[in-house]
Amino acid sequence: MREDLLKAVENELQEVQRRNEEISLRRRAEVSERYPEIRTLLAERESLIHGTIRGILQGKATPEQLPEKIEDISAGIREALQRHGLPADYLAPVYDCPECQDTGYVGQIVRERCGCVKRRYQARLRTAIGLPENGRETFEAYDETLFSEEPLPGSRLTERQAMERVRNYCEKWAENYPAQQPRDLVLSGKSGLGKTFLLHAMAARLIMKDVQVLVISAYSFLETARRSWFEQDGGLEDLIDAEVLMLDDLGSEPLMQNITIEQLFNLVNERQRRNRATVFSTNLTEEDIRNRYTERIASRLTDGQNCLFLPLRGRDIRNGRK
Ligand SMILES: [Zn+2]
Repeated sequence: MREDLLKAVENELQEVQRRNEEISLRRRAEVSERYPEIRTLLAERESLIHGTIRGILQGKATPEQLPEKIEDISAGIREALQRHGLPADYLAPVYDCPECQDTGYVGQIVRERCGCVKRRYQARLRTAIGLPENGRETFEAYDETLFSEEPLPGSRLTERQAMERVRNYCEKWAENYPAQQPRDLVLSGKSGLGKTFLLHAMAARLIMKDVQVLVISAYSFLETARRSWFEQDGGLEDLIDAEVLMLDDLGSEPLMQNITIEQLFNLVNERQRRNRATVFSTNLTEEDIRNRYTERIASRLTDGQNCLFLPLRGRDIRNGRK
């Protein structure tokens, strides 16, 4: 787990506690002011608790009947709240997470991090590595029924079957990491076939396995590469060194003379040399890649041994067509 993100989650929980405490106090003040009978009950309950504690400390009272008496008053409060059209638990403590009461921990004897901490951590991690925060793009959520059951031209498979194969291939690749074969992948196909979704689903699966992933668009890659070219700021080195890099929409970046091709080659070459896995998505075909980036880069991305070029076939699903 990344310490910086964990720390941020802890701060977030403290903020949640503070906010909820404020809500409780505000509700209490509001109810006390508007409904004197509830104010009386609240005061009665408090003095009962304080009185008993005082008595115990002085050795005069025993706490035996306290829970029962408190429960009687609390029932009276709940009943009065409802009579005034408020929820019965309006004055109960407010928690975002009832499991851990926003402390971040569960368990009496063995203290464990609560599920809500893990969820908040995952959301922060997703944003930090370039994934959408909501985490909805997963293999589990992949909906192949968006693709038609028409046969693909020149194939025995329907569009849906073909896309299901691609989905399964990508899932297996992520599942098998770091023993996946081949090391690199290029998902190639027209817009609207869900390439970015698959890229994000792979990244989501990898971070579940604590693999360090970075997801960036080709456009941001070029921005980073350009800065590194002129300012030597080391940004490109971070991309070269990421354990797994997902480069989305290769070909959408501008072709800047002396920069795009040089730096892309630099990235691909260095990552392959360090045996680091890279997954690309692109609208370009093998031929387009050769024409745009020269043979030197194309051969790295299409050799089939280190890098599999996976063509996706089908029609754009973004028009809402089934
Ligand atoms: Zn919790």
